[in-house]
Amino acid sequence: MGRLAVETDQEIREKGVRTRIKGIVQGVGFRPFIYNLALAHHLRGFVSNTSEGVYIEVEGDPDFLDAFHRGIIAEKPPLAHITSIETIEQELKSYSDFTIHKSEAQEHRRTLISPDVCVCEDCLRELFDPKDRRFGYPFINCTNCGPRYTIIMDIPYDRPFTAMKGFKMCPPCEAEYHDPADRRFHAQPNACWDCGPLVRLWAHAGQEIRAGNPIEEARKLLKQGKIVAIKGLGGFHLAADATNNEAVKRLRQRKHREEKPLALMCPSLEQIREFARVTEEEGSLLNSIQRPIVILEKKPNADIAEEVSPRNRTYGIMLPYTPLHYLLFQGDDLLALVMTSGNISEEPIAIDNEEAFKRLGDIADYFLNHNRDIYLRSDDSILRVLGAVPRQIRRSRGYVPIPTFLKRSLEPILACGAEWKNTVCLTRGDQVFLSQHIGDLENLETLNFFQMTIQHLKRILEIEPKIVAYDLHPDYLSTQYALKQSSMIQVGVQHHHAHIVSAMAEHGLAGPVIGIALDGTGYGADGQIWGGEVLVVEPKQFERVGHFAYLPMPGGAAAIKKPWRMAVSALYEAFGDEFLKISLPFLEGIPRKRVDILIHMIGQGVNTPLTSSCGRLFDSVAAIAGVRNYVAYEGQAAVELEAGAEEDLERVYPFEIREKDGALEFLTAPIIKSVVADVNEGCSTGLISATFHNTLVALFLDVCERVRASRKFKQVVLSGGCFQNARLLVQLTEALENQGFEVFSQAQVSSNDGGIALGQAVAADAMYKAGL
Ligand SMILES: [Zn+2]
Ligand SMILES: [Zn+2]
Repeated sequence: MGRLAVETDQEIREKGVRTRIKGIVQGVGFRPFIYNLALAHHLRGFVSNTSEGVYIEVEGDPDFLDAFHRGIIAEKPPLAHITSIETIEQELKSYSDFTIHKSEAQEHRRTLISPDVCVCEDCLRELFDPKDRRFGYPFINCTNCGPRYTIIMDIPYDRPFTAMKGFKMCPPCEAEYHDPADRRFHAQPNACWDCGPLVRLWAHAGQEIRAGNPIEEARKLLKQGKIVAIKGLGGFHLAADATNNEAVKRLRQRKHREEKPLALMCPSLEQIREFARVTEEEGSLLNSIQRPIVILEKKPNADIAEEVSPRNRTYGIMLPYTPLHYLLFQGDDLLALVMTSGNISEEPIAIDNEEAFKRLGDIADYFLNHNRDIYLRSDDSILRVLGAVPRQIRRSRGYVPIPTFLKRSLEPILACGAEWKNTVCLTRGDQVFLSQHIGDLENLETLNFFQMTIQHLKRILEIEPKIVAYDLHPDYLSTQYALKQSSMIQVGVQHHHAHIVSAMAEHGLAGPVIGIALDGTGYGADGQIWGGEVLVVEPKQFERVGHFAYLPMPGGAAAIKKPWRMAVSALYEAFGDEFLKISLPFLEGIPRKRVDILIHMIGQGVNTPLTSSCGRLFDSVAAIAGVRNYVAYEGQAAVELEAGAEEDLERVYPFEIREKDGALEFLTAPIIKSVVADVNEGCSTGLISATFHNTLVALFLDVCERVRASRKFKQVVLSGGCFQNARLLVQLTEALENQGFEVFSQAQVSSNDGGIALGQAVAADAMYKAGL
């Protein structure tokens, strides 16, 4: 009798619960995790993937149910990212065991997809274990690691919707895939030597080199100074031995990449420390599962070829992240490899084998290819630790497509970004999805990639945008694309407004704030080229309260590649015709006739837009100070000016701020005159650079004080490409904070034009809702 009573008790005590979990919960080992957790707590029911996330029904002892739900949060798999968890009690359905259900394809696709991440410790151990059946297999992966975003064609995330659809699993892989206790349970890219993709080495298209171990062979070729195109996770890399100056030089020439630093891959943190300084923060960033390129300070006397990062104080370095990379570095005879994006100049990175043979055939001596398709290209992400905060410079692999979560819901929006360093952005409720780095929209290939990315994101996120946001610049291809989308409401957002709102979105600021937007080029509301702007900003509107005095930009965009032109313009502004009487070393190499033509253009206003750009002011100062007259990439002169700056934090040039048409105007002439005086007195470039940086800090502090005095705002938001200048960002932040301002700058999203689409989306939503 007593026994019966106990049983009845238990039945009464049992409870049933259904749970919906949203976030990144598919393709990250979530269902097996739930399965094992449910078994550990003696629960019955099932778990399934839905297009919204994960759905669970469980029943059992209420205490165990509580422990189970606590465990979901506390013990979730490393790649999982839970955004919401909803639990409702339901009547008992008397399940007999716990099972994993097949995915159901639903109409709504609200799930989040994991980014691609580096190979995990467990897989690495197996990779180098001669007794393991995947010993040396370059595509080893499990539910905790490997490719995701770049191999997904559609959702739900199941093998038939990925680039693995053509590979039929062998019986042992199949068994792992179906065994809930296995680390590869439902790992969609699961594969092995017998059934998965394989690596092959080619000399040219159609000329395969039959080597016993193609990866080992590739390493030998790299050691001999050859250039090898290597297919990776999000695209091809072009690799060369980073200690071989000749090889690196050849790679530069063939890739038409003159000056920009080349990224390095190095097998271990210890080896990186041989030629670069690594702080604790930088070390953990390098080691994170995202494995980004981290900008690190060079150490002197390095073995690394000068050609890797000429006239620059830093290297961009990453650790290996695919099993193939680890195999490539096996043998300890490579200190570091140049691993630069597999493209010519600014074209998008190559992802397809045939495409690679065609486009990289003139650059690479050999191709290390494989037959797992890359569905969506994704470059390596680049981060830099500034002011103790890791900051995105190029946000791509490892981070995309994790959304930014806002405090409020937005209309469905497509934001098309700017022209250079383009990214696009799509919104869904309170989630904002910034795409991977697309590139400079200057050629057909990049424009195609731009359009493909929009289509792909719309499909996998199931977003049908109602509003299209775009930059005001009429010549941007992204703007022209937006203006063709006649089914959507078109909202133009001013470039620097978008910069500041992008930073505000990251920090959840509603404004009004004082926004300091400093960059190279942005189309202004008055049709001129802005770039040295102090704005009062809310998402729905902005007011231009101050800016650098306009300087003529002779030849328009051509002046960007020729800083000496901006120098002449700034000198002419400061001294008038008198400046020709001043002898300045930087003018020595330039024929007098060309200077005269330039001055004539300025005088007549021929092909000479006006600019308030801080980037162009940097160019002028850099040229006059003797850094360089020509650049190979935008901002190069400024980067080198900063790199050479001395420590001095006190010396400041006189500057002048005056009121004009209700706004503040920061005159360039007093600064330029002082730089000229310094040059003529033989002052070092490093001291001129330090003084110029100090002057900008003092000037913007002064402007912020004036705005605060009249309007009482004390939140200052910094954005724009110039804030990738470490010295300017750190020094200005400190100076403002010392005076009681609250200062916000970007970390999650790039402060350059790569982050602008996010600001466009948030601003366009606010403008639309305000009826503007
Ligand atoms: Zn793994
Ligand atoms: Zn297999």
